[in-house]
Amino acid sequence: MIPVIAIDGPAGAGKSTIAKLLAKRLGLQYLDTGAMYRAVALAVKEASISPEDEAKIERLLPTLTIDLDGERVFLNGRDVSHLIRTPEIDLLASAVSRLGAVRRYLTQLQREFASKKGVVAEGRDMGTVVFPDSPYKFFLTATPEERAKRRKKQLEMQGENVLYETILKQIKKRDKQDSDRAIAPLRQAEDAQLIDTTGKTIDEILDEIIRRIKSGQEK
Ligand code: C5P
Repeated sequence: MIPVIAIDGPAGAGKSTIAKLLAKRLGLQYLDTGAMYRAVALAVKEASISPEDEAKIERLLPTLTIDLDGERVFLNGRDVSHLIRTPEIDLLASAVSRLGAVRRYLTQLQREFASKKGVVAEGRDMGTVVFPDSPYKFFLTATPEERAKRRKKQLEMQGENVLYETILKQIKKRDKQDSDRAIAPLRQAEDAQLIDTTGKTIDEILDEIIRRIKSGQEK
């Protein structure tokens, strides 16, 4: 069976960093499903479509090609890896991810991606909807304050200076939007293992996950 390691959790819980390193250590592909929602959000923005207009977005989807290559993201062949990492796209991705048409389209793309080679897949609904049969499910959390701090650092490294308070507010708004939506809301799968990353180093979290995978403690 092709292995799938499913990592879910809210924004800033450490999913991306952990999933990337885990994929490297285990020799699996890294599947950043948030990047796919971000690419759709960018396409919606560039086509000047309202994120509320599901009918128009549904017509746009089959015209898109979204490819992932490690950490790089391509929309219709164009490298959009940086363009999709802005506070505006943070919120727009969260808005379009509420739509059934978008979720159906991307769920299929994600399963196709994982059908060729094993993946470490990170997102919001990996364990609950996209890969429910995976025996390796992890749900990463951290306090909103810690997540806002991490996001601020990340944005600073990209040369963007956004107020901590603004980021904290946006993180809480995104948490609410992602958890309250009707389809595939952010939630821990019943058989996922919870890992609180607050105050832990990357290495500590990574070791903990690998230990749990290897010891077959997965539920
Ligand atoms: O993980 P990231 O912050 O890049 O995700 C951007 C947005 O995409 C999230 O806020 C969420 O609304 C949406 N998303 C989702 N399901 C996923 C991954 C991301 O709804 N599996």
